[in-house]
Amino acid sequence: MPSFSLLVAAFAAAFLGAHAAPAPGQSTFTADRYVESVSGDLPIVLTAPHGGALKPDSIAHRKEGVLGADLNSLELTRALAAELFVRTGRHPAMVASHLHRSKLDPNREIKAAAQGDPTAESAWRDFHAAIRAALATTVARHGFAFLIDLHGHGHPIARLELGYALDSAQLNRPDTTFDASGLITLSTVSDLHVRSGPALASSALIRGPRSLGALYQAAGLRAIPSPQEPQPGSDPFFAGGYIVRTYAAAPDTPKVDGLQIETYRVGVRDNSENRARFARITVDVLTPFLREHYAFDLAAKK
Ligand SMILES: [Zn+2]
Repeated sequence: MPSFSLLVAAFAAAFLGAHAAPAPGQSTFTADRYVESVSGDLPIVLTAPHGGALKPDSIAHRKEGVLGADLNSLELTRALAAELFVRTGRHPAMVASHLHRSKLDPNREIKAAAQGDPTAESAWRDFHAAIRAALATTVARHGFAFLIDLHGHGHPIARLELGYALDSAQLNRPDTTFDASGLITLSTVSDLHVRSGPALASSALIRGPRSLGALYQAAGLRAIPSPQEPQPGSDPFFAGGYIVRTYAAAPDTPKVDGLQIETYRVGVRDNSENRARFARITVDVLTPFLREHYAFDLAAKK
């Protein structure tokens, strides 16, 4: 007598056979072309919520909040996906919004995102369903998923702002009180914190000598938090928005970690050479990080 789970698997196989899953690296679009998904076979999921350009008349203009796009952030995300493929022979999953931010901001909850427009609400649901699907597929394949939500900021200090869902007031605590606070359990690296074990202090995970910020600094890109710049103080700082808070920080998304990366423009996003350089450095940064924390080797080509 076959088990129920086997029957489910057989049904799923039959279903997938009828609707073949896209090959890794292949783009699919929703019928309205507002949401693009790229299928992946790496344990990395990239999201680009603020790089869209479409401004259809059929969707009302948003009236509140930030309405400007993150210039070239979609191109930056594609550059990172392309570099990952060059280096590994495999593709990250990617989900992008093609609607301009004046029409939809998918890095907000639906009310602020769509501001009551039913078509924008539908695109918001498609965008988030695509992220959930990409994460579920990735976790099923690898046992974990690392989510990178890519943005562009216009803050006066040209540095990467790494958003772990920890805000300035929280990061401004010294290491001892930060470690004692348990704030890491609310962050986008809460699962990673558990995975790493008690030997690695919370503060070390996000701003120690082996943190992503430290690896970016060593590769020549300023980044906060990092050993060099552990605390934002009173400078503007993006802590991470709806996407990373929903999928990496929430307690009902086990096995998903990640962060929001807010990039500066000149030197990172402004031209294709700089985008390619950022992509190379980011793969250089992710390689030791994923190896150390997940025993996943990006350097081992397929
Ligand atoms: Zn943004």
